[in-house]
Amino acid sequence: MAKPKPTGYPPEGEELPSPVIDNHTHLPLGPVEDFPQGVTPLPIDVQLARAARANVVGLIHSSCELPDLQPGIDLARAHAPVRAAIAIHPNEATRHAHVTDVGPDGWEPAFAPHHEVSLDDAVARVGELAAANRDVVVAIGETGLDWFRTAGRGHDVQRAAFRAHIALAKELDLPLQIHDRDAHADVLDVLRRDGAPARTVFHCFSGDRAMAEVLNEHGWYASFAGPITYKSNDELREACRAMDPALVLVETDAPYLTPVPYRGRPNASYLMTHTVRAVAEQLDMELTQACHQLLANTRGVYGSW
Ligand SMILES: [Zn+2]
Repeated sequence: MAKPKPTGYPPEGEELPSPVIDNHTHLPLGPVEDFPQGVTPLPIDVQLARAARANVVGLIHSSCELPDLQPGIDLARAHAPVRAAIAIHPNEATRHAHVTDVGPDGWEPAFAPHHEVSLDDAVARVGELAAANRDVVVAIGETGLDWFRTAGRGHDVQRAAFRAHIALAKELDLPLQIHDRDAHADVLDVLRRDGAPARTVFHCFSGDRAMAEVLNEHGWYASFAGPITYKSNDELREACRAMDPALVLVETDAPYLTPVPYRGRPNASYLMTHTVRAVAEQLDMELTQACHQLLANTRGVYGSW
């Protein structure tokens, strides 16, 4: 009989030799229904204690649905290592605009009561909250284009929402965290036309070497997540090698995208050690040096806390 595959949160591993920050994650704000494998999320205090032991000393939590914006800010204010990024996610933007077009993934859009708020009002709320909570809101994100989850009118709606978030990031002088799924050329096109915010980050970067070169040229950041450890992703590793090391960031995007060797199990910031090691290898840097570089890059984008 085959041994059952282990489930649940992976064990803690060896800590990093020098501190780093998880540039993009989603902490549980309450009961999480679609959590991987139906696992109960680890309590925040446990997640933060494990992260600290791993030398992941800070994290940026992204709240990108209207009802989660204020709770995300409250969470950051309640826990010293946590800062918040806020936005209306592209796949939420389409729901606020009542788009029913189905994307290539065949996922039927599901609407909730908060989607009755217009997209303009929802984005305006992001701006109000970011402006009123400058001490803990360190970025606008995640926003961008998701051509996997929408089609038809959804493209126009997401493009408009992305542009509104770009304007907001510029107005508030905040970094922008971009969600780009199967939409590289169109994301780059919008940034070129509108002009990117001074600090622009491709969250969970998924481009190739040519795209890495575009980022280098503009001084835009690539934030690498667990997929850089996946066996089939040679193209992504090649892109990492092509990046200017001063523009490389690292993140978990937890609870998803768990790095190898725990792919498929729930993710959390303490597991970013595996991704940092993979990035260090691609940058051809000794691990301590890579941690120094990644932390300096993070502080350059989001400041220090
Ligand atoms: Zn995310």
